[in-house]
Amino acid sequence: METILNLLQIALSSDWWVHIVSNFALWGLLYVIEVKLLSRKFKSRNVLLQLLLSNLIDLDHLLSRPIYDPSRCSLNNHLFHSYYFIPAYVIGLFTRFRYFFMGIGLHFFIDYIGCVF
Ligand SMILES: [Zn+2]
Repeated sequence: METILNLLQIALSSDWWVHIVSNFALWGLLYVIEVKLLSRKFKSRNVLLQLLLSNLIDLDHLLSRPIYDPSRCSLNNHLFHSYYFIPAYVIGLFTRFRYFFMGIGLHFFIDYIGCVF
């Protein structure tokens, strides 16, 4: 019971929804660029799935205690949010999972904004 309350508290106080909203915004932007401007094939469901799945890097919060702390900056404080991983994420942009890694880039950006303000 306590765990459920904790999860609820995390859900209410964290900015996870900003990540989801921004994923949809990037999805729309990619659609316009790839379909309208570049006339490329665009597997919209696959792209959206990759973007949303990129937020799974937040699972590294489970390695920290407390799992969520609103005053803690995620970047460099959690395993997958470490700057050491950035080269690997950049390489990922050149694979078929590029949308997943674009999502990670966006995720980093939003977490960074959250750290500044
Ligand atoms: Zn994060």
